[in-house]
Order: sequence, then structure tokens, then C-alpha cells
Amino acid sequence: MDLVDTSTLHSKLKTFFGFDAFKGDQERIIQHLVSGNNAFVLMPTGGGKSLCYQLPALVMEGTAIVISPLIALMKNQVDAIRGFEAGDDGIAHFLNSSLNRIQIAEVQEDLLRGVTKLLYVAPESLTKEENIALLKSVKISFYAVDEAHCISEWGHDFRPEYRKIRSIIDQIQPAPVIALTATATPKVQSDILKNLRIQDATVFKSSFNRPNLYYEVRDKVEPEKDIIRFIRQNPGKSGIIYCLSRKKVEEMAQLLSINGIKARPYHAGLDAKTRAENQDLFLTEEIDVIVATIAFGMGIDKPDVRFVIHYDIPKSIEGYYQETGRAGRDGQEGQCITYYSYKDIQKLEKFMQGKPVAEQEIGKQLLQETVAYAESSQCRRKLLLNYFGEDYLEDNCGACDNCLHPKKRYDGREDMALVIELIESLPERFKLEHLAAILSGVSNAMVKSYRHDELPLFGAGKEHDIRFWFAVIHQGLLLHYLEKDIENYGLISATEKGLEFFKHPHEVMLVEDRTFSEGEDDEDDDSPAAVHGGGGGDPVLLAMLKDLRKDVARKRHLQPWMVFGDPSLEDMTIVYPLTLKELQEKCQGVGEGKAQKFGQPFIDLIARYVEENEIERPDDFVVKSVASKSGNKVYIIQSIDRKMDLGDIAAAKGLDMDELLTEIEGIVSTGTRVNINYYIEEELDPEVVEEIYDWFKEEATSDSLQEAIDALSGDYEEWEIRLVRIKFLCEVVN
Ligand code: ADP
Ligand code: MG
Repeated sequence: MDLVDTSTLHSKLKTFFGFDAFKGDQERIIQHLVSGNNAFVLMPTGGGKSLCYQLPALVMEGTAIVISPLIALMKNQVDAIRGFEAGDDGIAHFLNSSLNRIQIAEVQEDLLRGVTKLLYVAPESLTKEENIALLKSVKISFYAVDEAHCISEWGHDFRPEYRKIRSIIDQIQPAPVIALTATATPKVQSDILKNLRIQDATVFKSSFNRPNLYYEVRDKVEPEKDIIRFIRQNPGKSGIIYCLSRKKVEEMAQLLSINGIKARPYHAGLDAKTRAENQDLFLTEEIDVIVATIAFGMGIDKPDVRFVIHYDIPKSIEGYYQETGRAGRDGQEGQCITYYSYKDIQKLEKFMQGKPVAEQEIGKQLLQETVAYAESSQCRRKLLLNYFGEDYLEDNCGACDNCLHPKKRYDGREDMALVIELIESLPERFKLEHLAAILSGVSNAMVKSYRHDELPLFGAGKEHDIRFWFAVIHQGLLLHYLEKDIENYGLISATEKGLEFFKHPHEVMLVEDRTFSEGEDDEDDDSPAAVHGGGGGDPVLLAMLKDLRKDVARKRHLQPWMVFGDPSLEDMTIVYPLTLKELQEKCQGVGEGKAQKFGQPFIDLIARYVEENEIERPDDFVVKSVASKSGNKVYIIQSIDRKMDLGDIAAAKGLDMDELLTEIEGIVSTGTRVNINYYIEEELDPEVVEEIYDWFKEEATSDSLQEAIDALSGDYEEWEIRLVRIKFLCEVVN
């Protein structure tokens, strides 16, 4: 087909899509395709790839086949195109496993009538015999392979079916091919071209730089608290939090909700209805935050996502870049924050162990790149762009943690020269880890097997540890003194430029990697002990609050602990609440009832104290923990409200009575009231209730369950004591 003149393309752009101008390379790509050529489009997420095949499909003769991995995404795109074009719905169709017989017949008919300009197909459907036969009798304008990185095992989203595309195209009929992706490292890029056999394709590569995105990697210490703080500092903004496991997604969404943040979970384990509902709530801004596994986001076109948080480190840089790419699509603010600890890496490596060896090898290398990125003190933008084969030449991007807080640099000319000397002295090429081990004098199995512990340069840099040498080599790669053979397991060699440097060394300013804490096992990180943190408050204020508590208790004929527990007072000395709302929201063990009943004199005292001592209230707060980890809390409260038998509640949740009581005690300890009198009246002798109740009122010195059991277990059953304690705490204390 001939070049379509520019004004025609522009008018189609306006009438079909409502846009006034093309973005980036779109027009050149479209011209190229309609002239009958193969094209390879590398454009970051949000760059506008879809238009590069949608518009040509509408102006060219025949039907364009669009191969796309996601069923949900197809439907959206087809609906959108039908929306542009007022006429026949047959203009766009999709073929995938979600269609029934009748729908498939409809698609076939429209194809044969020649009205369909765009046909979206899943690769699985494309391989079906009957579909191949059908498409043979249709005129094809071109084939578009969207999300083309799925072809490569080196991409983050490998789909084996994608590798059959070329042979199917050959069976159907020849036509130009356009492959599109947002995540092409040089290795993935060459895989795509080879596998589709379009090595002659013109490559249209946009810069992958997203100047409006801010990148930061944080040490994973108290990540929950840090995230809550971050969200509170960014009120009303939309954000996505990615976690690796469904369980963590659920926990995090719940934790955020309990701490007053409008959040919902999203993962593949939820039923379709809930998923759609939560996604809609996010798109319509009924909620601010969606907590998700990576199942969320593909094809989501929300332009004003203001932050993307990775609670867990992603498995690859491609994945990370794709996910962070969902922030700030409108070109405005987009903060990308990732939590990192080496523990998480070890966990990921453990998950991989069940997989085939080749897959493990790839997985480990991708993960190693992520570690290098996280630990680096280099400009994050430079690292990311370099990963995608692009040089970023500015010294300071001004929008990443490492550029905003640069680490001191040192002249590393001797270190760099030593690396090159080692590489050149070896008869073969080796991986980065191996070279670093030799220089730092670590004789691991690999080093021994090559007898490299006998080399003259073994331990030549042993005043530094292995990680120091990782950093030197990584920077050698960035500076192009070294290069990595990606086809060959990442073997390192020196470049011309590196050899030149070696002959005439000059100043190279290097920087050491950052150090991160080991990271905790986060299995139990929302246990109350971890959340309390213990002490750390203002001892003078604490003493004053304790005096006040004594007064209040005396006036009301209560024990001091019934007014506020020690942990509550300690929290007050950390966060200095000035309103009843703050008192309730930010202090452990203070529910609404308690705040109303006792709070006023306490916040008055704190306000005076803050003013007299000119205290700057810290931006600190106490994370309200999810008392019931298993997500039973809401269910239990609602069931008790409905006066359901405790035995039935326990059974419904697969708990025994003991565990149920523990759950209820957890609920009550956060200051929430439940009324279990209906159950106590059924099950306990009124005299027993009265005696235990009186003991709490008169003799208990704290709300401790242990104290009660020690004092009373001679006369009463433990479950009786626990039930009455719950009753007492709810009626008198909370
Ligand atoms: P990609 O597939 O590259 O991630 P999309 O094709 O989904 O990107 O497009 C991203 C966004 O850019 C969409 O909201 C789309 O409507 C918009 N867009 C595409 N082309 C243009 C254009 N020429 N002018 C304005 N907006 C555009
Ligand atoms: Mg796309």
C-alpha cells in the first residue's frame, strides 16, 4: 500500500480517536506499517502503542490480527473501538476462550462479510485448527503482536504459546508484522526479532525515560508503619501497593483499612465479581489505595496514579519498570517506592527451587539484576535506562533517592584497573560474582574448581568485601569499560574503552553500594509486641499522665488501669494526641467509648504540656494492628451483634473455643466493645459471674489475663474467667 498522506492520517486520528496530534513516533510507525513493512516498537508503558496498530487497521484494506495475552484487555479495547465508530459493531471483534458457540459464529460471519477491521486473538485461540482455516479465507492487512516480550524466556512474562506465532502466520497468509512491547532488554529484543523472523523490521525505540517518576528504595524496616505514614502524608492521592503473595495483599489491605485508609485488595484468588468491584472502586476514586499482586494493572489506564509502592522487591527489573510505569501516566507526579531486604531475595530464591534448572538459572540472573539495582548508590534512572540499553547522560537526575542524597565518591582508578587486569589475565570469561570473589579472596566452590584461589590476583583486593567489588564491576559496566555478554550467562569482558583506560588510567569517581539491614521474618510482624515498640516516649509526661489517671480513677471509683492501660499512656507520650479523634486513632487500646468517657482531661493535659514545653509533635503514630490475623475480626463482631452462639461462630471459622476467645480478647484489647451477655446468661451460673466480676472490680491491678487466672483458677474454670473478663472489660473499661 502507498503512503497515506499526512492529512488523511490526522483526520482519522481526530475522527476515530479524538486526538489532535500523534504522540512520539506514532505517525512514523503508522506510515511505515501501512506501506507494507515490518516494524518493531519499543515504547514505555503509557506511550501509546495501541494506536500504532488500531489506526492502520482502520485505514487499511482487510482485517488486522492483533495477538494479545489478556482476555480482559481485549474486551476493553474492542469496546473502545466500537465506541469510536458509530456504525457496525462488527468492526472489531475478539476470539478467545470466553466466547460461546453463537458468539463465535457471529465473529466468523462478520469476518467473511469483510466488515471486521480488527480481530483480537489470544495466542491459544490462534493455534486452533478451525481458526487457522477461517483466517485463510479472510484478507489479512497485517499482524500485530502486542506485549511481544511474552515471546522470550528472558522477559518477565513468558508465554510458550507466543513462540508459535510465526509458524501460524506462515500457515494463514503473509502480511506485515508489527511487534510491540514496553519491556525490551537487548536480549529480549533479539529473541523477539528472531522468533517472529522479522530481523528486517525497522526498530522504533522511544526513550524509556519517564522524567516525572521519582524512584526510591527503602530499607525494609517496619514497612507497614512506613507505608501508612507515607499514605497519610499524601492524602487523597491514588496509589497501588504491590505485594508478592495473596496473603500479604489481604493483610495489608486490612491493616490499611483499620488505620483509616480507604484501601481494597486485588488478586487472582478473589472471585471475579469482587475483583471487578474493587477495581472499579479504585478507578472511580471511591478508594485511594489498591493493594495487589501483579495480577493488577495490565491494561488499567488510570492516568493519575500518584504512587506505586512495592512492599516486596519485584522478581525482575522488567517487572519493576512495568509496574512503576503505572504511576504518573498523565506526566504529573508519580512516586515509586520499593522496600528491600536481602531476606526477601532469599525467599524468592527458595520459591524457585522447584522449577526446572534452566528456568531457575534465568530467574536467578534476573533477580541478581534487581539486587544490584536496589543496593546501588548510582542514579536509579541511569541504572534503569542502562538496563534497557539506553544511556542517560545527566550527572544528576534530581528525581531519585541516590541523586537527592548522593553518597560520597572516591577515586576508584586503581580498583577499576585491577578488575580489568584480572579479566585480561584469565584465559576465559567469567561472571561478575566470580570475578568479585577472586578479588576479595573468597574461595568458594566455583573458585576452587577453577583453582582460582591459586592465582596471583586472588585476594588482591581483600581489604574490601565481595560486595564492594560487585559495585566496582557494575560501575565498570555503566561506564562501558566492561561489557556483559547477555547471550552467554552474563560473562564479563573488557571493552576497547576499558583497555584504553587500563593502559592510561585516569580518575574515575566511584561510589560504594548502600547497606541495608538484614530484614526481619515478617511472618509475625503484626503481633502486638512488634507494634507496641515499647517505651521510647516522654517520661515526664508519662508520670503526669499516670497521676491524672489515678485522680480520674478515684473520682469514678475505678482502678487506674481501667481508665487507660500503660500501653495507651505510653502511646500518648509518643504521639501527643490533641483531639479525642487522634487519641482514638493513634493510641493502642483506646476505642471510641474510652476516648469519650475518659479522654478529655488527658488531651487537655497533653495540650498544655505541648504548649508549655514548645514540643514539636512528631510525625509519628502507632499502627493499629489487626487483632485477628486471619481476617475473622469483622465476622466475629457482626456475629456477636446478631447474638450468634459462640460455638457456632467458632465452628464457622474453623476455630476451637480457645482460639475464638483469643480472637475476641484481641478485639477487646484494641478498645472495641462487644456484648456477650446473651451467651454468658445461657452458659454461666449468675453467682459465678458476679464473683469473678467483683474480683476484677476490687482486686485486679491490671487487665492482665494471667493475673486473673493465677488468682481465680482454683475456684473457676479458665473459660469462665475469660468470658467474664471480656464482659468486664467491655462494660467498665472500654
Ligand atoms: P501502551 O500500550 O503503550 O502502554 P496505550 O496504547 O494504552 O499505551 O495508551 C496510553 C494512553 O495514551 C491511552 O490513554 C491513550 O488513549 C493515550 N494516547 C495514545 N495516543 C495518544 C495521542 N496521540 N494523543 C493523546 N493521547 C494518546
Ligand atoms: Mg499496551
